[in-house]
Amino acid sequence: MNEDEGTHLLQALAQAVIELHNVGRSGVISLPYPAHVQRIMDRIVRLCLDLGQRPPSGVPELINWCTQRGPGDWPFPVQPDLVRPDSVLVDPFSRTPSRTCFELAGTAADAARDLIRQLIEAADAPNSGRRARAFLVAHPVVVNGLTHQISGGIATWQRVRHLYQFVPPAHLKERQIAACPVCGLPSKMDRLKVVWCEAGLCDRVEEPLRYPATNGIQLLDERLRLFVTLPGRIELRLVEHLRAIGTDITLTDAVEGAYLLERPVLGKRVVHVADRIEPALLAVDAARWPDSLVVVPQQLFDRVPHYRQRFTNAASADADVALVSDDELVALVGGTETELDRA
Ligand SMILES: [Zn+2]
Repeated sequence: MNEDEGTHLLQALAQAVIELHNVGRSGVISLPYPAHVQRIMDRIVRLCLDLGQRPPSGVPELINWCTQRGPGDWPFPVQPDLVRPDSVLVDPFSRTPSRTCFELAGTAADAARDLIRQLIEAADAPNSGRRARAFLVAHPVVVNGLTHQISGGIATWQRVRHLYQFVPPAHLKERQIAACPVCGLPSKMDRLKVVWCEAGLCDRVEEPLRYPATNGIQLLDERLRLFVTLPGRIELRLVEHLRAIGTDITLTDAVEGAYLLERPVLGKRVVHVADRIEPALLAVDAARWPDSLVVVPQQLFDRVPHYRQRFTNAASADADVALVSDDELVALVGGTETELDRA
């Protein structure tokens, strides 16, 4: 098996992990496993046997391997630097598909864009589609009554309610769900401390937001949580900071999340905000946004080793994109020296 075939197999495994997660939402997986999952399992068993290695005893052990094995630890070669060397497909703490898994599977970002496109196309006015998108950014979790508190909330809720699901009992702890106070996404807590959140990189100094199960909690579709809510929070902050220093920036394409800057920065006016844990996979996706600034939260530069370098190595020269953090963009607009100037 060559690197390309191995990379496809790792992507197929990521898709299988997500499929299994979806069928197991209720906490019970009934046999047989989905055909795609069983096919991947059979291929990995055969590869192990060919190499004289012990194969996984079943799908549960394969999933266990996914909590431990980085891209270089599988019985097949994977394109180097496609994902970070310590990335795993299943988060060992939450036992749910990791952000790397969703990004590698390659289907979630497209699905999120399609869901937003459907919202925009179904809207009776351009603003109502954008309001619906803004609602998803602001509310990864909703509770009964919340929609009555926001202006225009009920009409917007009618447009987006099909994108929310009730939380399965298995996801509740002490009859409540916790959300990270930084990213707003579901988190797990121990006593009053956040010990894990879906975004994975947030500071854990504040108490989680807690919603009691009795309030009819619903969670936004996880593809939208990761690919719309997460970058959407950075978009809001960026817009606020840029306007505060007198530069306007406007949303021009709600499906792609494209913004237009009042004047060019690094020769570009189109801005795409992304929040992806895997820089090389972001570089591949960024090929759809030619001649633009790709903006990621500064936190990724601070906490993910070699983020900029990995992105640059994987980016296509034809795409002509420039990667900057949100802090760097504000500094560039404001005329402050950044790491980019010093480099
Ligand atoms: Zn968080």
